[in-house]
Amino acid sequence: MPPIEVRFRRFTSLNTTIRLRQGKIFVSLSDLLEGAPEFVVRAIAHILLAKLYKKPIEAAHNLRYKRFCSSAAVTRQTELIRGARGNKRFFGPEGRFFNLEEVFDSLNAKFFSGLLGRPELTWSESVARRALGHYDAAHNTIVVSRVFDRPSSPRYAVEYLLYHEMLHLKHPVRMRGLRRMVHPREFKDEERLFPQLKEAQAFIGRL
Ligand SMILES: [Zn+2]
Repeated sequence: MPPIEVRFRRFTSLNTTIRLRQGKIFVSLSDLLEGAPEFVVRAIAHILLAKLYKKPIEAAHNLRYKRFCSSAAVTRQTELIRGARGNKRFFGPEGRFFNLEEVFDSLNAKFFSGLLGRPELTWSESVARRALGHYDAAHNTIVVSRVFDRPSSPRYAVEYLLYHEMLHLKHPVRMRGLRRMVHPREFKDEERLFPQLKEAQAFIGRL
């Protein structure tokens, strides 16, 4: 059996996904399912594994899952959360031209041996030019300005922005006396490993 990584994520719907990548199974479940009874969790595991390995889904499991999702309490909770998250301005990783999760995963493999845990990734609400990217440690979320989600943005610019924020994940802010070390030396040394650093910074400067 391959190793399995299961994560609850802040979806606004009851989304579940399963992927087999480099010999490991990755499962993402909506956090709405976090409190689901065990027989529902088993049904979901069965359904996802059946899908992954293209095996038939047992009707009983399917029925349990469907019944749970359509139950009044769950429907109501889904709606509430959708409303609340709408207000919290969570826009998600899928942009018009770039998918932040896909970019994150490729950088993670290339520069971090795939070892960084993926935080929430989202495009910003507005086309902000002042805050181009930031990592919000409290919500474990990287926000990237939507200004980069356009065909004229080179991929290396989006990659560099995300790479910078990923270095913040790897090197949390340290205190030296009373000073906050946001970009300590190890951070800057590692940032220089990005191949198109100059081009990316020049592009951002022009923006
Ligand atoms: Zn920074």
